[in-house]
Amino acid sequence: MRFSIRSFKEGTPPAEFEETLVLPDFARENVNVESISSVEVSLIASAESQVIFVSGTAKAEVEYECCRCLKTYRDNLVGEIREGFTERPDKENVEEDIHLLTSEWVDMDEYVAESLQLALVYKPLCRPDCKGLCGQCGHDLNVSDCGCEVKHQDPRLEALRDLLSAGDSE
Ligand SMILES: [Zn+2]
Ligand SMILES: [Zn+2]
Repeated sequence: MRFSIRSFKEGTPPAEFEETLVLPDFARENVNVESISSVEVSLIASAESQVIFVSGTAKAEVEYECCRCLKTYRDNLVGEIREGFTERPDKENVEEDIHLLTSEWVDMDEYVAESLQLALVYKPLCRPDCKGLCGQCGHDLNVSDCGCEVKHQDPRLEALRDLLSAGDSE
């Protein structure tokens, strides 16, 4: 998704544009994300004092892997975009996200990906009370009890089990 900074003139009304974007590397670069749909990007751009300000939203559906039970589930993701672009070195401002361009072309893909990355859940859970998997037999405790939960929830036995398994490997 790219546009020329020269297509915006000072004093003209803000321009709106929408595009559907595919981010092929997004799932690979984010460990908890199994897949992502195409991204609906909706932006508004305006020129002001030699800077083009671009703001808007990026919407997609992601498939997370639950960090407790490892099942995948879908959730909506909305990223907020607010960036500035300029060809004038003196207008560059890192704190205000005003980026200096090396050509007249602005490529929005990385900023769209970044906004979605910031919207990701750090520890995805398929549901808030997900019980996860049994540490002993791997059974999904959301489905039913497996019967071995009493043993491995006792920390003393847990420590003993660690000792025993450490002995096994020697
Ligand atoms: Zn889960
Ligand atoms: Zn079990």
